[in-house]
Amino acid sequence: MHKLICTLSLLVLSATLVSAQQYDLVFQGGRVMDPETGLDAVRNLGIRDGKIVRISADPLTGRRVVNAAGLVVAPGFIDLHQHGQDLASQRVKALDGVTTALELEIGAPDVAAFLKAKQGTSLINYGSAASHVAARALAFGTPLSGIDILPKSGDATNLPAAPEQLAKMKQRLYSELDAGGLAVGMGIQYVPGATRSEVIDVFRLAASRGLPVYTHVRSAGRGEPGSSIESVSEVIGAAAISGASLHIVHINSSCGFDALECLSMIEGARARGLDVTTEAYPYIAGMTAINSALFNPGWQQKLGISYDSIMLPETGERLTKERFDELHNSTTTHFVVTFTNTQELIDKIIPNPLIMIASDGLEGHPRNAGTYSRVLARYVREKGTISLMDALRKMTLMPAEMLERSTPAARHMGRLQEGADADIVVFDPATIADHATFKDPMLPSVGVHYLVVGGTVVVDDGKIVPDVFPGRALLGPGAASVMHN
Ligand SMILES: [Zn+2]
Repeated sequence: MHKLICTLSLLVLSATLVSAQQYDLVFQGGRVMDPETGLDAVRNLGIRDGKIVRISADPLTGRRVVNAAGLVVAPGFIDLHQHGQDLASQRVKALDGVTTALELEIGAPDVAAFLKAKQGTSLINYGSAASHVAARALAFGTPLSGIDILPKSGDATNLPAAPEQLAKMKQRLYSELDAGGLAVGMGIQYVPGATRSEVIDVFRLAASRGLPVYTHVRSAGRGEPGSSIESVSEVIGAAAISGASLHIVHINSSCGFDALECLSMIEGARARGLDVTTEAYPYIAGMTAINSALFNPGWQQKLGISYDSIMLPETGERLTKERFDELHNSTTTHFVVTFTNTQELIDKIIPNPLIMIASDGLEGHPRNAGTYSRVLARYVREKGTISLMDALRKMTLMPAEMLERSTPAARHMGRLQEGADADIVVFDPATIADHATFKDPMLPSVGVHYLVVGGTVVVDDGKIVPDVFPGRALLGPGAASVMHN
């Protein structure tokens, strides 16, 4: 008996020692940076069971110890605005430092189907808004098919909704929020038939659930009516009327040459106590579907561009009137690149303290693969217009705080702190760079040495680890419980 107790206590003792000292994974001697606490020091990082358990100057032991000397260890980047949810896109995102990529601008057309398809098959964390454009298409009797997130131009995009259609739309949005939608996504420019009153109604619906609205505003360009200034005023007004938090996506493309004025409008709204945030991506061209309502008649005057500002990404072909008409009327959805901004202006927008970095990523545009590395290379290293810590803040803490409006799970994201989720990027600040171009948009970035999602290594020594799918679902409060894997 005595002997048994001795053996048992030895076992307990050794188990305790192992659990106190042994981590699943240790990053040793990296430059650990956390935008919330301001920590910027050489530290060792111990990870266990998907969490950051220990950050210490003392040596740590682990099942695997990775030397991170000379590398930055930061929270994984959170992309609030990612359309390409396929594995190819997720791989280039991972190599760009992204651990979470959410479809919030528009939203998947069917949140439950989206979540089901991603479960156990996702490299990085995922989630979706409830889609206003999809709810509208459904209410008009022309539901979106397959993986399309944008409706083709037609009655469901161009006509005002009758009262029963509006009621149907709202019913669908509520059920999409119940399925786990993190917010309401409103691509107002893609449904020009939506009246101001419909927009306010949908903001009220989001507010009734305490959730934010992410929006692509009604219009871009300088001509009145229909300027970007008017469009930003519309959604700031709807936020003020309803009380819903508002996130205006890609202010670089939505406001074009008036982006700095739009930023000062947001600053003013915030100073008056409204919860308005925004984001940008670091490229001079946008990308969209050529058969969408964005290209309804009059688009040249409205957007201030012509046929030759539009490019087919696969071939680099610039369009003519004949070619445009052919693609616009085609039943297949073609995505086109639209050159609508200048480098000088983008260089002023990105460093603005209100700007979060979000990619609006999809295959065919280099922002899918290069957004985050491009900011670190161009603005932090080459131009020196943003400090490394501020750039990380735009990519981690600011989007995490935005997500906290939707889910308490986000409190453990975007931070490099003990108790936070082990979503981590380890990169070389001296070499990190984007390689994707308009000609070769899926070329991965370089400089990310390691990427960890929920404690699982998905980029190891600069290479994607095959067959690991640790991505977790982020769910809004409507879903019964938080799913994992
Ligand atoms: Zn958009």
